[in-house]
Amino acid sequence: MSSDPTLSCDVLVCGGGVAGTMAAVAAARHGAKVILVERYGFLGGNATAGAVGQFNSWQTAAGRRIIAGLADEVVDRLRTYGAAGQHEVFVMSNGHRMDRVPYAPEVLKLVLDDMVVDAGVQVLFHANLLGVECRERKVTTVQVLTKSGVLSILPRILIDASGDIDALNRAGVRLLSLDDGETLQPATMMFRFGPMDFVRFGAIPKVHLAALARRGFEQGDLARAALHASPDPFSQDGWFNISRLGIDATDSMSLSRAEIEGRKQAWQAAAYLRAAVPGCENGRLQAFATQVGVRETRRVEGDHVLTVDELLQSRPFGDAIAAGAYPIDIHPSAGGGLVYKTFDADHAYQIPYRSLIPADLDNALAVGRGISATHEALAAIRVMTISMAVGQAGGTAAAMASQETEGMLRLVPIGKLQAALQADGACLGA
Ligand SMILES: Cc1cc2nc3c(=O)[nH]c(=O)nc-3n(C[C@H](O)[C@H](O)[C@H](O)COP(=O)(O)OP(=O)(O)OC[C@H]3O[C@@H](n4cnc5c(N)ncnc54)[C@H](O)[C@@H]3O)c2cc1C
Repeated sequence: MSSDPTLSCDVLVCGGGVAGTMAAVAAARHGAKVILVERYGFLGGNATAGAVGQFNSWQTAAGRRIIAGLADEVVDRLRTYGAAGQHEVFVMSNGHRMDRVPYAPEVLKLVLDDMVVDAGVQVLFHANLLGVECRERKVTTVQVLTKSGVLSILPRILIDASGDIDALNRAGVRLLSLDDGETLQPATMMFRFGPMDFVRFGAIPKVHLAALARRGFEQGDLARAALHASPDPFSQDGWFNISRLGIDATDSMSLSRAEIEGRKQAWQAAAYLRAAVPGCENGRLQAFATQVGVRETRRVEGDHVLTVDELLQSRPFGDAIAAGAYPIDIHPSAGGGLVYKTFDADHAYQIPYRSLIPADLDNALAVGRGISATHEALAAIRVMTISMAVGQAGGTAAAMASQETEGMLRLVPIGKLQAALQADGACLGA
């Protein structure tokens, strides 16, 4: 009987969302041989398949820059394709001010392709994680199911960037659970609607917009009392984030039902937009996201569990590898509302390296929305800007570990890691 084809690498990144792609690029640029495994035929995860459409929170409310590094490069590269809007401060449909860079999700696919190709990352598309084998606190083999059958990959280091922590879950590591009264944040089927008259839509007074959203929710046309859209830089359309699906997206039955329900909610919301919302009269639903966008599923238990108090108190960490300024933004799984806790004007927080290291393994990291943080803390650090910053840090650390510490991630010299990140333009300070 023939055995599975085998590949080996320094760093295997499982999942090509924004966090995983930045991790792969950073690791490759720092000299590691990197394989990136992605279940779809393109990169980006929520940013492309989920069609989120805007990178939020580059700075504090007072305007101090908190996110830079590879995230900046993504935007610069989008701009060369004409596919990113200006960095702007806007008022969210909940009345809070926020900053963003809108982008065209389709073109982000090209940009991420360019970045991995330029960095020399070996990308395996249409590859689903199948199994993970460990020995003595180390991941030894990862199996992926591809069009050509099962491939076995022998990595020195595994970075789980699957969002759902699929790889570390298969490795059997401890995960964090929800506390009493907490539920997973809901998923959302994003949809593109247009053409829109953004001048008229943008001129709707916020109280009027909130009343329109509330009416749509109360009469059952909107699943969420919000009319939240980001402009698509390539068209007169907007990407709407107004459906709500209270599911556990790691449960395949409920995920499947959510795709169907999500499209139904989006269709109904589009009809409401056309009938009731100024600037939307001539629009129609142009596209659904490839899949429902998933805000929260599994979180790994790491050497440090980042808490909401640490974010609120801006706790300094000696092993800080990224920073953020996005507020606590919890979408309840049911009802039309939002729990949104803002910070003081110049407030920011740090993310420690230890929150990337699974407590049970020596040669694995998590990056992106599955890192070691409480449900409330994740509600802040899950946004794409911070996910990219954490991804860059994880990839840089993994390259260092593969070259200097025989893959032992806890032995990476923190000062050297921080210096490398800063030299690469990243911002670590709160
Ligand atoms: C509806 C919605 C609206 C949002 N709005 C904003 C916003 O306005 N601004 C903002 O900045 N952030 C926003 N966010 C948050 C942000 O989009 C995500 O938290 C962020 O994109 C997470 O990135 P990630 O790379 O960690 O994970 P993901 O984007 O989930 O990427 C995971 C990747 O792994 C792949 N993968 C998963 N499992 C496997 C497997 N078993 N085998 C192989 N590949 C696998 C996936 O296909 C995907 O490419 C929003 C999120 C949602 C869902």
